[in-house]
Amino acid sequence: MTDRATQVALGLGDVQHRIAGACVAAGRVPAAVTLVVVTKTWPASDVRLLHALGVRDVGENRDQEASQKAADVADLPGLRWHFVGQLQSNKARSVARYADVVHSVDRVKLARALNDAATGRRIGCFLQVSLDGDQRRGGALTSDLAELADAVAGAERLDLLGLMAVPPLGSDLDSRFAELQELSERLRADHPAAGELSAGMSGDLETAIAHGATHVRVGSAVLGGRPRLG
Ligand SMILES: *Cc1c(COP(=O)(O)O)cnc(C)c1O
Repeated sequence: MTDRATQVALGLGDVQHRIAGACVAAGRVPAAVTLVVVTKTWPASDVRLLHALGVRDVGENRDQEASQKAADVADLPGLRWHFVGQLQSNKARSVARYADVVHSVDRVKLARALNDAATGRRIGCFLQVSLDGDQRRGGALTSDLAELADAVAGAERLDLLGLMAVPPLGSDLDSRFAELQELSERLRADHPAAGELSAGMSGDLETAIAHGATHVRVGSAVLGGRPRLG
């Protein structure tokens, strides 16, 4: 193995171990949690390494980078692309070409644009919720969730999977994720099929799993620290 292959294998093993430990601690089966490896800023060659190690779920947060990378590894069987970043409606057409799941659906207009663009395929949707009401980092207000959920559930080519959130920096993670879990249970009361929960990243995946996360989105703990963007 190359140095990079060894590094990625060790990072992946470490994160899988952390997920398994968190599941045991929470009395959940590890198979109930999907690891989405966020490959943003890392080259397509890393996606190939991850695929060889058994990873099938990879995530990106910018359309331009994601569409190029997805095209570069289009030969890899069974790969699922998750779009996790803020998304403008005018990018929906591009994202719908490669994304199997979008974690950042936060407006009815965006849901409609994704549905219109998803010709001949289905897109799984997580509704991103803003836990502190500050929408600069994306996310719907909790008061708008019910309407958004109805729009996605009623869209012909979208599957409503559940909720997603990125907790605000410096907040009490345990209470934020508890709040998110409660919102998720409320959503499921109206939409029984929407039982997934996308929460947890490199620094907080254990807390998220303790509060019911079914999808953790992990970048740096698997692939290493990203170069800081100016
Ligand atoms: C980058 C990113 C992640 C992964 O973050 P790490 O801290 O590197 O694990 C998860 N979710 C979103 C929305 C991201 O943009």
